[in-house]
Amino acid sequence: MSLNDSLKKELLNLEQQSLYRQRKITDGPQQVHLISNGKSVVSFCSNDYLGLANHPGIAKAFKQGVNDYGVGSGAAHLVSGHSRAHHELEEALAEYTGRSRTLLFSTGYMANLGIVNALMGKGDIVFQDKLNHASLIDAALLSSVFLGSQLKRYPHNDMNRLAQLLTAPDNKQRKLVMSDAVFSMGGDLAQVTRMSELCRQHDAWLMLDDAHGFGVLGANGAGTAEEFSLDQEQLPVYMATLGKAMGGFGAFVAGSDVLIETLIQKARSYVYTTAMPPAMAQALLMSIKISREQSWRREKLKQLIAQFRSGAEQLGLSLMNSQTAIQPIMVGDNETAMSISQTLEQQGFLITAIRPPTLPKGTARLRVTLSAEHEETDIEQLLSALARVKWS
Ligand SMILES: *Cc1c(COP(=O)(O)O)cnc(C)c1O
Repeated sequence: MSLNDSLKKELLNLEQQSLYRQRKITDGPQQVHLISNGKSVVSFCSNDYLGLANHPGIAKAFKQGVNDYGVGSGAAHLVSGHSRAHHELEEALAEYTGRSRTLLFSTGYMANLGIVNALMGKGDIVFQDKLNHASLIDAALLSSVFLGSQLKRYPHNDMNRLAQLLTAPDNKQRKLVMSDAVFSMGGDLAQVTRMSELCRQHDAWLMLDDAHGFGVLGANGAGTAEEFSLDQEQLPVYMATLGKAMGGFGAFVAGSDVLIETLIQKARSYVYTTAMPPAMAQALLMSIKISREQSWRREKLKQLIAQFRSGAEQLGLSLMNSQTAIQPIMVGDNETAMSISQTLEQQGFLITAIRPPTLPKGTARLRVTLSAEHEETDIEQLLSALARVKWS
């Protein structure tokens, strides 16, 4: 079979299973009131939880950054791409998260690849929750091929199973436990305090990916580590992204001086890639300032979450155990999830249906996400639309 025919067959297969993915075109800025495919909709699907992606003060800092540094960074951090703006952002992030140092990565996906790549070697073991984000799983799989490390997965949030797995290996091996802090498709939390205790008992390192907690959790928005008071010893490898609640782009890893130096020397996804544009770093300095100073954004988000949950419960919808901005509604079947998402879009609500392979089979859901930029009336209108939906 020719390559073309073979690929065509695969695509047709996806279409038949309601697994075909299509992009929508957005015009204008990323915000709650969005122009999607030429139509005005209220978006309930972005990860812009604090409403900073189109914040005028941050946009201004970005433009100033372009004036100061131009557009591209021109090179990798270790060549000539590490600008003062990048450096200041790393320092500001270290202060915000209460860590010794931080290191910027171009994306969260790459940060996760880099962490496993730099820390693990032959025979070392990575432990992961089965519902971890694809970038964590891919990181461990790549390292198992390149470095001969192993990946052991445990059922979602099953701490007894994790404890069992941690008991087995001899203590010459390095052990790294990696988990989403806030699970990206369920919005529920990992049992971070328990994980930290288990890691201490078994001489393992804990790594949390706080893509959906940073900016949202903790009194000052410094994320899951702040919310659960986990210091650098209890949580030695903290990673978060800057393209979600911070409204920008990129990611960072935070921890000890030794951790950061190791990543600089060894993480291939750090060494062999172009630094993010310095203007983005300049904009992110402003995002952090606003996130720290404007706690009302987190308070408002909490109120909206409570309003949505109580309304959805009254409608008898199947919510998940989540107190975060991610509030999925369980549907089950791919086709039903897709058709509900399309119906809602026709009524002016943008909510993505999340399906396998992002999720296990039979657990397709509508991933509703809330933002501090939503108003109470947006939630009311969404709830009325959900009340009209046929759920099976
Ligand atoms: C979004 C996300 C990432 C990837 O971050 P990018 O900066 O978008 O590459 C990693 N981990 C989790 C849990 C995420 O939700």
